[in-house]
Amino acid sequence: MTDDNTVLILGSIALDTLEIDNRRYSGLVGGSTTYATLSAGRFVPIHVVGIIGDDFPESGHRIFDTFANDLSDLEVKVGPTFSWGGRYHSDMNNRDTLFTELGVFDNYSPKLTGQNRNVPYVFLANIHPELQLTVLDQLSKNSVIVTDTMNLWINTTRAALLRVIRQTTILLVNESEADLLTGISDLNRAAEKLLEMGPEQVIIKCGNRGAIQYSDEVKTVIGTYPVKKVIDPTGAGDSFGGGFIAAIANGAEIKDALIRGTAMASICVEGIGTAMLEQTSEEKILARERYLLDKVIP
Ligand code: AMP
Repeated sequence: MTDDNTVLILGSIALDTLEIDNRRYSGLVGGSTTYATLSAGRFVPIHVVGIIGDDFPESGHRIFDTFANDLSDLEVKVGPTFSWGGRYHSDMNNRDTLFTELGVFDNYSPKLTGQNRNVPYVFLANIHPELQLTVLDQLSKNSVIVTDTMNLWINTTRAALLRVIRQTTILLVNESEADLLTGISDLNRAAEKLLEMGPEQVIIKCGNRGAIQYSDEVKTVIGTYPVKKVIDPTGAGDSFGGGFIAAIANGAEIKDALIRGTAMASICVEGIGTAMLEQTSEEKILARERYLLDKVIP
């Protein structure tokens, strides 16, 4: 039996190299699953499905031992962990991918043990859509599916991604992804088209301007927490997704899920890699959520 608010997370578990402000940071534990687990794991039980290599560092194992509850579908394989390199432009809003090395993700096919086939909430964090489909195919009940993706998959594996989106309950995309997926730059009209593709709700993340939630009936807009200095934006989207699905799994209204996602993303960007998410206190999260209450326009 799994808890009613259990969240299964599929995504990347990575070793990141980041170039920010002419400084290079290598061997950072990252990946969409890692950020999402750090963000959601304080609030709900997390089950992880993914793969790491035998080079995955102790600091990474500690994150999953601390913030996740079930690692039975986390495979450890001889070989290199997935690795990704990114260089940020000076405005911090844009970045270039320097390299993507699949490592043990090459030929990986996620397998769910019995209890993970029945989880009520699933976060398909950013990863190859075929892997997201493989997990969807193994779920035996109507779980709430929250899906995230990136430009790369829209450009290279659109058909598989569209099949994932069709089975998604809540789709998370940023502005450029919404445009790429629909060919429409106007956000409201792009959201309408995305809703026609299958999801019950679409959330468009607008970077440092906040996020907008759309369903057939309503639209909710949330601003951002005014972070004094963005140190490293990596993982902001994954942290938003983790906080968001954790709140949904705990029965929160959409408004409060948007607040939780936004608060966790604001904490993520205040340090290099996962540092701030690992150390933050409950008081800090709650203070940010209180601030954000006034930043929601229902
Ligand atoms: P975000 O800044 O929210 O887009 O997330 C950044 C994280 O995504 C980094 O820690 C990377 O390891 C991971 N990442 C980058 N490219 C990919 C990819 N093609 N597939 C899966 N994860 C990726």
